[in-house]
Amino acid sequence: MDKIFQKTKIIATVGPACNTYEKLLQLAEEGVDVFRLNFSHGTHRDHQEVINHINKINEDYTFKIAILGDLQGPKLRVGQIEGDGVALSEGDEILLTNEEVIGTKEKVYISYPAFYDDVEIGETIFFDDGKIEMKVKKLNADRTVLMEVLQGGVLSSRKGLNLPETNISIPAITDKDIEDIKFAAVQRLDWVALSFVRHPDDVCKLRKMLRKLGSEAKVIAKIEKPEVLDCLRDVIVESDGIMIARGDLGVELPIAQVPLIQKNIVRMCIHRAKPVIIATQMMESMIERTKPNRSEITDVANAVLDGADAVMLSGETAVGKHPEKVIRTMSNIIYEVEKEEDLYHREDLTPQEHSPSFLSDAVCYRASKMSVDVKADALIGTTQSGYTGFMLSSFRPKAPLFVFTKTKSLVHQLSLSWGVRAIFFEEPKDLDDIISDQIEELKKRNIVKEGDVVVSTGSTPVADQLPTNLIKVTRVK
Ligand code: PEP
Repeated sequence: MDKIFQKTKIIATVGPACNTYEKLLQLAEEGVDVFRLNFSHGTHRDHQEVINHINKINEDYTFKIAILGDLQGPKLRVGQIEGDGVALSEGDEILLTNEEVIGTKEKVYISYPAFYDDVEIGETIFFDDGKIEMKVKKLNADRTVLMEVLQGGVLSSRKGLNLPETNISIPAITDKDIEDIKFAAVQRLDWVALSFVRHPDDVCKLRKMLRKLGSEAKVIAKIEKPEVLDCLRDVIVESDGIMIARGDLGVELPIAQVPLIQKNIVRMCIHRAKPVIIATQMMESMIERTKPNRSEITDVANAVLDGADAVMLSGETAVGKHPEKVIRTMSNIIYEVEKEEDLYHREDLTPQEHSPSFLSDAVCYRASKMSVDVKADALIGTTQSGYTGFMLSSFRPKAPLFVFTKTKSLVHQLSLSWGVRAIFFEEPKDLDDIISDQIEELKKRNIVKEGDVVVSTGSTPVADQLPTNLIKVTRVK
């Protein structure tokens, strides 16, 4: 297997450690498929510079790197806290307030106006990724809330808080998100992710806003709240992709439950042909060190074996000391695991009869299977909506997968999808020409040569633009 045909994609979060043209290019050369802009940090001006660099890299080279904008969503934070933070010990009491004060050991501001109305006595609240734990002790008449520290630590400025037991009344899309969505639309970002999704409607709202702004961006729901697990199926259906955001998920839920939830979500997403991303702390130790822990290597390897579309890096590339080494190491792990293709190729996932797209799904399934039977050197799909690309990918075919499209926005969007190499293509009117031109294009790029076998999918009559409805097997001349 050639390394350029690695199937599992790599997403790297951009930050001060990699936000120059040269650094981003280095990371692209090491194997990044998607760059993530985290709207929880940085200004639009900072993001704009990065977007310009990535667009230029795509123009200067043959990369098809996608850009994913990650919205902060209703993330709650404490305000400014004096000094380097305040040390809290078990049994301490502290007031949480909506009054904008500089935090002390006695009183800390939180960015949540309805906090007093939403919380109930006895509920547990976590701070700083779960490092500090407190319990609601008393709701005071002046709308402050008295907390008792259960697990101490140093609470410093702007740290996040998680309220897994509280029914939070903050809207799914905040005023800050609206500004970021407008920015994402103007910048034509390929994917937009929404944090703390609680309901399928959250995803629908985001998609509606993007379309109203003229954006074709595809929408990702980040799974990090316990309540979303009750409507996961519908959230997956409404989304174009899913991110398993293990950072917050591991705070909001008992951490030991995360591995099985991860496996289950990956399986559900592959079943519905929705790209799924595994995120957070995959190579965390490499923020400082030049080599990962053994457990991190196994975590990445297991994500590949489970069939994740993409594995994501956060601090490792955004603020870490060795971003390019992280990508090289991750890419090497993917390469080694993907050599054992029988471990991830999915013949067990058959098309679902009740699906409205059952017929074309069945054609994609057969094409993927046939590409194994005839030991194809390439499997080709053609798509306008992206659907055939995502569907062919979902069967995790062994042959390198090429998806031709005349929809410009899809070329980069499909970079997130397992195994897909997308190619822009001005489609001829005749099906024979479409298939032979596509093979010719692969020949020109030295992907296939005379004597190779190609399995093509397409649809006829061409003018009707129907979903995929045929398979052709060609020996390349
Ligand atoms: C996470 O919580 O795992 C995550 C990816 O979200 P963020 O980095 O936005 O906190």
